[in-house]
Amino acid sequence: MRLKKIKLAGFKSFVDPTSLPLPSNRVAIVGPNGCGKSNVIDAVRWVMGESSAKHLRGDSMADVIFNGSTSRKPVGQCSVELVFDNSEGSLGGQYATYNEIAIKRQVSRDGQSHYFLNNARCRRRDITDIFLGTGLGPRSYAIIEQGMISRLIEAKPEELRVFLEEAAGISKYKERRRETENR
Ligand code: ATP
Ligand code: MG
Repeated sequence: MRLKKIKLAGFKSFVDPTSLPLPSNRVAIVGPNGCGKSNVIDAVRWVMGESSAKHLRGDSMADVIFNGSTSRKPVGQCSVELVFDNSEGSLGGQYATYNEIAIKRQVSRDGQSHYFLNNARCRRRDITDIFLGTGLGPRSYAIIEQGMISRLIEAKPEELRVFLEEAAGISKYKERRRETENR
């Protein structure tokens, strides 16, 4: 599975529709301070279902929507789409036959979030399900941010276990069991 494109519209500083192609397995995003590099990572976290404004470096969830600049008015909604190459079928259980998997999240200022899987409306859960056990997800170890290495080194055994369970692919089944028990 490989992330091959990130599409943003109205998300933080990306007010105009922007398509970021990721042409190889190793891509670096460089640019001056404040140009929007970290906003790209926030977008990736957000589309996978991140629901904490703090983890997206904002005060409220509406802070992900472009809020205007000296020359542009704020916009009313934003969307982010991740396009994965899935030709090897490594992603998504029932979706494994799709050569391409596109997941999209859209939100308007009234706070309503909508999720889409290959352009069909789906639940947040359908998105999180796809990534459980892959190491990718809004809070997963696939995204190594500032301070994370020292957090890992200082983590308590039970916190470390969460990472190990995700790497071993167990977290998916634990989540299913938790859901069943809560029903
Ligand atoms: P650094 O090199 O300092 O880490 P960076 O390239 O990671 O910088 P970001 O943090 O991604 O920069 O981008 C910050 C910019 O995004 C700021 O100019 C900020 O005003 C802008 N920004 C963040 N949220 C919004 C929003 N909702 N609407 C408009 N602009 C926003
Ligand atoms: Mg940054």
